[in-house]
Amino acid sequence: MAVPKRKTTPSRRNMRRAHDSLAVSAYVECSNCGELTRPHHVCGSCGHYGGREVVAQTVED
Ligand SMILES: [Zn+2]
Repeated sequence: MAVPKRKTTPSRRNMRRAHDSLAVSAYVECSNCGELTRPHHVCGSCGHYGGREVVAQTVED
C-alpha cells in the first residue's frame, strides 16, 4: 500500500481545501412569469422555455 512519506502540514491541508467551498447555484428570472428558475431549464411554475410553453400546465381548482 502506498503510504505518504511526510505528514501533511496544516498549511498544505488548508491549501488543498481552498477549493472545497460550496458554489451558490445560479438562478435567472423567467422571461414569461418572472419566477426565479435555473438557467437552461424549463420554468417550474409556468412551463416555459425559450420563449414558448413546452410543458402544459394543469388548471388547479
Ligand atoms: Zn415561468
